[in-house]
Amino acid sequence: MDNAIKVKRLPRDPGLSGWNALLEAPPPPRVCEENITADWLVIGAGFAGLAAARRLSQLRASERIVLLDAVRVGTGPAGRNAGFMIDLPHDISAEGYAGGLEKDQRQIAMNRAAIGFAREAVEEHGLPREAFDPAGKINAATTEQGQRQNESFAAHLGRLGEDHRLLDADAMRNITGSEFFCGGIFAPGTVMIQPALFVRGMADGLVRGGVELFEESPVTGLERLGPDWRATTPQGSVTAPRVVLTVNGHANSFGLFERRLMHIFTYASLTRALSDSEVRTLGGEPRWGATPSHAQGTTVRRISGTGGDRILIRNRFTYDASMEVGQRRMATVARGHDRSFAARFPMLADVTMEHRWGGRLCLSRNGVPAFGEQKPGLFSACCQNGVGIAKGTLSGMLAAELAGGGNHPMVADMLAFEEPERLPAEPFASLGANAYLRWKTWRAGVEF
Ligand SMILES: Cc1cc2nc3c(=O)[nH]c(=O)nc-3n(C[C@H](O)[C@H](O)[C@H](O)COP(=O)(O)OP(=O)(O)OC[C@H]3O[C@@H](n4cnc5c(N)ncnc54)[C@H](O)[C@@H]3O)c2cc1C
Repeated sequence: MDNAIKVKRLPRDPGLSGWNALLEAPPPPRVCEENITADWLVIGAGFAGLAAARRLSQLRASERIVLLDAVRVGTGPAGRNAGFMIDLPHDISAEGYAGGLEKDQRQIAMNRAAIGFAREAVEEHGLPREAFDPAGKINAATTEQGQRQNESFAAHLGRLGEDHRLLDADAMRNITGSEFFCGGIFAPGTVMIQPALFVRGMADGLVRGGVELFEESPVTGLERLGPDWRATTPQGSVTAPRVVLTVNGHANSFGLFERRLMHIFTYASLTRALSDSEVRTLGGEPRWGATPSHAQGTTVRRISGTGGDRILIRNRFTYDASMEVGQRRMATVARGHDRSFAARFPMLADVTMEHRWGGRLCLSRNGVPAFGEQKPGLFSACCQNGVGIAKGTLSGMLAAELAGGGNHPMVADMLAFEEPERLPAEPFASLGANAYLRWKTWRAGVEF
């Protein structure tokens, strides 16, 4: 990366996030229209950026902290995911999520540190239960193969000493109302968030605490000027000696970690609100979340709250090196979501999808974050490997510790990760990754 860089690409988020659509429209954004001098600049107001700004505001309470995002808070990936803030190992590139014992123990400790940090903020800002619900989650199986994967995951959880409960098909039906699932594992540590409500609430809390948030203010250039960095936006600039870059895969657009980050999209659809009689026909519990036993399968979530009773379907991963997806892809995915919904909820044949969207993830080939001081005064907390609610929160918080002189012991864990591994050149990276993802999806079979 150069000392004067032109940002190559700005984020483009396909479709409107249903989570955001369920909430009231926010007041107009504050856009960066002046030339500001600050002590700290955080670029990107997703989980990592919000956590970094919060931790900086604790460590450097009297200093001026500016947080910029290209879009409105809640409309980027942080407001368009499925909402599972997962404490347990969840390697989405593996089939059964689990890794080695010691590695997983460390990951669990890190995820729980993130959840604890988020919980403190939720309490301080007075966010409602719907924004952050420590309800646990199910790993749902729909095939014998899925059951076997669940059994081996349960054994792994046993070895880790982690609380979990096996569910048979009847128990699954009692919870979900669906006959489609043949079993599941319930584990209590996951927090279910309403992503847009959560990130908007976090941002509002930060602003009340003195952080200056500018939305719809994309950074188009970042340049070193003596001891400072100057970030340029279309109508203004922010100059600060220390910058924390929390843009996930868009680190590449800033010239960082080039050919080391994989840009993956995944997709969600949210039904219209169910009527009272549809809720009765469905049965089951009003709120639950199920990730698939096979990582490439379908995530399903039942919600009940702002916006009524609805069901969310999430599946498909595609590798898009351009960091954009088009309408044709969205239409194909939508047909797949409808099939996944119909297979699970045949009793809701008249229920249609009201919102559909996609969003970016960032993975590295070796599953490590893109974390640390990349240039003097320029810190990165990027590449959350698909589970960015917990990992993004932690990496943002720890980047603030590293940059702001905190002494959190997990900074050393983050710095101990190796560098993100290099990818093959294009088009081989895209061809290989998409063939691999299609194969994984085929392996997921009916889980899909
Ligand atoms: C459909 C879907 C379901 C998912 N489900 C889950 C789940 O259940 N659990 C889970 O843990 N994860 C899930 N994820 C992944 C999760 O959303 C991401 O990993 C997470 O959002 C990453 O957090 P982050 O803060 O690192 O980056 P982001 O949330 O991507 O935030 C980065 C921000 O940087 C901003 N930005 C980029 N470039 C610029 C620029 N030039 N100038 C200013 N701002 C810029 C972007 O607008 C964005 O708001 C899902 C994702 C999708 C799409």
